[in-house]
Formats: sequence, C-alpha cells, structure tokens
Amino acid sequence: MGTLTGKTAIVTGASALRGIGRATAIRLARDGADIVVTDIDGASASPDGLPAKMSLLDELAAEISQGPSRAIAVRLDVTRQADVQDCVAKTVSEFGGIDILVNNAGSLAGSQNFLSTTPEQWECSFDVNLLGPMMMAQAVIPEMRKAGGGRIINIGSTGSLGAEPGFGAYTAMKHGLAGLSKTIAAEFGVDGILCNTVCPGYIATDMHLAANQRLAAEHNLPLDEIKAQRYAAVALRDAGLPMDVANAVAYLAGPQANYVTGINFPVAGGVPFGI
Ligand code: NAP
Repeated sequence: MGTLTGKTAIVTGASALRGIGRATAIRLARDGADIVVTDIDGASASPDGLPAKMSLLDELAAEISQGPSRAIAVRLDVTRQADVQDCVAKTVSEFGGIDILVNNAGSLAGSQNFLSTTPEQWECSFDVNLLGPMMMAQAVIPEMRKAGGGRIINIGSTGSLGAEPGFGAYTAMKHGLAGLSKTIAAEFGVDGILCNTVCPGYIATDMHLAANQRLAAEHNLPLDEIKAQRYAAVALRDAGLPMDVANAVAYLAGPQANYVTGINFPVAGGVPFGI
C-alpha cells in the first residue's frame, strides 16, 4: 500500500512527454493514488510530428492503469467553466470523490517585454495561469469538504517570488497564484483542505526550452549562451527535471505534509528569485 492509496488526484496540463504534469501524474500513482490526467486539446497538439495530445493522454492513463492505480484521461481546457465542471463530474462518477488537485496547466503565452504586452496577451496569460486554477479550486473544494479534507497544489514558479526581465504577464499571474493558494489555505484549513504553491525554477521541459529559444532570438545570442547565462545564476548550475518537481508535489499531497499549508515551496536548485 502506498501513502496515497485510496486517494484520487486530478492533474491538469498532463500530456506533454517532457512535462511536469506527466511526471506528477506518474509520481502520485506510484504512491497509490488514482489519477485523472487532463489537458487541453490545443493548437500545439502535434509539434514535431508527435502524436496528438489526446492520444498522449490516453497512453498515459493506460500506462498508469497497468500498475495498482487506476487512471482516466479527460480533455480539459482550464479556462472553460463547462470543461471544469465536466471534469469534476467525471472524476466523482468514476472514483467517488476528489482528494488532490494539482493545478499544473500553465502557459508563457503573452509574456514578453513589458511595454510590448497588449491587454489581450495579458488577459490570455491571466486566463490560463490564474483564472483556470481558481475555477478548478472552486469546483473541487465542495467535494473535498464532503470528504473531510483535501490537498490543492498550485504549480507556481520562481516567478511567483521574484521577477526576471521579459516575463511580465507570467510573473504577475504566478504571483497571483501564490496569493490564491494562501487564500484557500486561510479560508479552508478549517475544512481540512491544505493548499500550497510549488515554485519550480528552470526545469528541462518544452516550456523552458521555448523560453530559452525566445531569449536567444531576442538577444541575438546562441541558445547555448543563453542557457549558460541563466544556469550560471543557479547554485546547482543546471536545469532541474520534471520529476524533481513531482517529488515536491508528492510530499505536499501526502501524510508527511499534514501540517503544511499556505507555503511557497521552491524547487529551483538555488536559483535567486530576482527582484
Ligand atoms: P508544458 O510542458 O508546456 O506543460 C504545460 C501543459 O499545460 C501543456 O500541455 C499545455 O498545453 C497545457 N495547457 C496550456 N493551456 C492550457 C489550458 N488552457 N488548459 C489546460 N491545459 C493547458 O510546461 P511545463 O514546463 O511542464 O509547465 C508545467 C507548469 O510548471 C506550468 O504551470 C509552468 O508555468 C510551471 N513552471 C515551469 C517551469 C519550467 O522551467 N519548465 C518553471 C516554472 C514554472 P499546450 O502545450 O497545448 O499549451
């Protein structure tokens, strides 16, 4: 028996092969949780000839279900209230309740040089990085209350704690996400619902690679030079792995974190948080 046996977790944004969401789903399943893996069936569905995202999600659910845990795949755009409600209804119908929510879906879309950022880009970043997690939390909290408690883990960023130039909208929303976590922690601790923000630094995923590529283009520098500059600021001198973040999520979801709520938990190899 694992520490999460008998628990059910929803993980958003879980399809990407090198993503934090996928690693988290696998990690929580390893601890015994049943998993609802979800993702948007977005325009970036098949980059580089990869299988469409929903196939990746189905394969992930099938892979997890080969072990002691069960898993289902649900298409979910976290910015759409109807999708959010549908996902919660499917989870309750399949597993009887919801114990853990990992708000992992996030996007760098709309983040760039501050003076060039349009209101539309700002709103796009808000929808994915802040409105989505808020709607997901509102939808699961009644179920967690019925169960006598639960865990909500929001995947923030070191951008929840400080700022690096060139990521204005993202940084603002990730700061907001840390505030959302603290609000939930303060308001629903009485119901046994714990809520924390995991703050990854540079983690080797497609999103991180895209950010490095954008900075390389903007500064007219080779990609390796951008990576060297960014990693030079990290105490451990390299990017982390998705599983490093997943391990922190598993801790916060499990019994060892029974008295931990409202915190920001950096998984950043000692990256300074900027200003
Ligand atoms: P990723 O591989 O791009 O995974 C994010 C997933 O969220 C993607 O599958 C993405 O789909 C999905 N998504 C985007 N918009 C969505 C929506 N409206 N509804 C549902 N899903 C949506 O990135 P990652 O690096 O694993 O990031 C996971 C989380 O960690 C994010 O919250 C990110 O901000 C945070 N984080 C990452 C790093 C890092 O260095 N990698 C650092 C700090 C924080 P599309 O690909 O179709 O957009």
